[in-house]
Amino acid sequence: MRKQAILIDASDCTGCNSCTYKCIQEFGAHEPAALGLFRTVALINDKGVFHRQCMHCKEPQCVIASAGAMERSEYGAVLLDATKLTNPKEVEESCPFGVLRQDEKYNGLIKCNMCAHRVSEGRPVACSEACPVSAIQCGDYETIVAIAKQKAARGKLTIYGLKENGGTNVLMLMKGKPAESGYPQVPASRAKPRRSASAPAAGRGKSAKRKTTGKGR
Ligand code: SF4
Ligand code: SF4
Repeated sequence: MRKQAILIDASDCTGCNSCTYKCIQEFGAHEPAALGLFRTVALINDKGVFHRQCMHCKEPQCVIASAGAMERSEYGAVLLDATKLTNPKEVEESCPFGVLRQDEKYNGLIKCNMCAHRVSEGRPVACSEACPVSAIQCGDYETIVAIAKQKAARGKLTIYGLKENGGTNVLMLMKGKPAESGYPQVPASRAKPRRSASAPAAGRGKSAKRKTTGKGR
């Protein structure tokens, strides 16, 4: 299978979190969601909307840290086998994007798996299907990169994920600089593992909050 990618355009996103709710439903992940653990979430700050989810790095530090519990699939998704995970805290801290989430009450890690069950059947990822304003697209990596570049040129947007951490299979589009929206500054070369104490806010800061619609939690 060819490499797959997801494009999230924050300039189109309204922050309704339909993607978040659809993902919870798709995986029956209500228990972690009740603890504030999501595979994807749209967060609001004073600059607008930004998304926090696994970027599916081409050179993922988490895979190394996981000691065999994680792998990068042939189509580019970074997958977690929770039954093999023995060191969730260490894996959480290895991610330079700070997207992995753990909770003492939840025995494990929550991360996007790029809807592996759907992708293997040639179906779109659930979050893209649920987005009412088509802010999330998925498909072949090359096609998604071409779409991202077209949209970036047309709307004067920044693409996040082409170079960060050696490139990722999730690309984000936004107005202005990524750091202004809330995305961590991650170098192009493989970044050093992130440590929670010095991590950027990336959705946990006081200025970031999840916009709710009254639907679900
Ligand atoms: S974003 Fe973090 S969790 Fe996802 S593949 Fe990269 S290092 Fe791993
Ligand atoms: S690709 Fe699938 S697992 Fe990942 S955030 Fe979207 S719905 Fe959730």
